Amino acid sequence: MENKTNQIIQNATSEIEKAKTKQELFEINTHYLGKNGQVSLLMQELKNCSKEDRPRLGAILNECREKVDTLLKEKIKKLEDEELEQKLNAEKVDVTIPVKPIPFGINHPITIIQNLLTDFFVKRGFTVKFGTDIETDYYCFEALNVPKNHPARDAQDTFYINEETVLRTHTSATQIHTLEQQKPPIKMVSTGSTYRADEIDSTHSPFFHQLEILVVDEKVSMTDLKGIIEELAKFLFGDKTQIRLRPSYFPFTEPSAEVDATCTQCGGKGCSLCKGTGWIELLGCGMVNPKILENHGIDTNKYAGYAVGLGLERIAMLRYGISDLREFYENDVNFLKQFK
Ligand SMILES: [Zn+2]
Repeated sequence: MENKTNQIIQNATSEIEKAKTKQELFEINTHYLGKNGQVSLLMQELKNCSKEDRPRLGAILNECREKVDTLLKEKIKKLEDEELEQKLNAEKVDVTIPVKPIPFGINHPITIIQNLLTDFFVKRGFTVKFGTDIETDYYCFEALNVPKNHPARDAQDTFYINEETVLRTHTSATQIHTLEQQKPPIKMVSTGSTYRADEIDSTHSPFFHQLEILVVDEKVSMTDLKGIIEELAKFLFGDKTQIRLRPSYFPFTEPSAEVDATCTQCGGKGCSLCKGTGWIELLGCGMVNPKILENHGIDTNKYAGYAVGLGLERIAMLRYGISDLREFYENDVNFLKQFK
């Protein structure tokens, strides 16, 4: 029996050493340790041995089984390690190979201006408020002092979803939502898409973007309004930029003003862009009509407010020197990718 087990160990060791695949090792395992394998057959022979010898021979057989089993497991581990190493070598990344450039998308110029302006106001303590593109007639017009049949509605003809629901003509609707939700002090900035039933030309589009600010606080005056617009104009077009306010009319502000900035092209000397005047229109603004504040329970003896609204397309056109608004929406990648 001892000779036989020694022989088994010797043969198995040599076969395991030579084995090159896990399949071969599986076959060796079956041949020696399987149900009808050589070790198992010897186990069956134990019955024929004398009772005294059985424990000792049994131990020798177990030892033989364990030895072959260990050798098999070691070899399997070795083959697996080799396999892994080969795989790693084969998949090694050659860092010297030039990388194929992945084309990244970039922000649309309107988004760039939107982010730039929102950042400008957020850094000055304004909170961003989000409105919705679809508004009720009330928030878009009525609450902003533009009742039905008001002439201002003609200038803001929009797309009606039904009699009471419209695509908003301005971001100003967000002012009303803010006044409903918040008590002064209020400092909010809101921006997004706006719609009007306009024919498309170089300066008009039925789809455009606005940004709006609203400030309601104690001791707020026209001087504060002028101050922040001046700061904004210099931020956008350079420190030498000057502004001027011209009286204007908006139903929801009183007094109202249009703000011009010194021409971004000629600096004020006069050129074709500014039609020789040296000034270009920048935005609209005004002190919030006290009626609107009072409608929202704000004491106008204590509080006042101002609002500024501007078109992002206009700012982008001035900043980037673009003369035709349609270029923003024609999806010409070569045009769009020049803006950073
Ligand atoms: Zn000019």
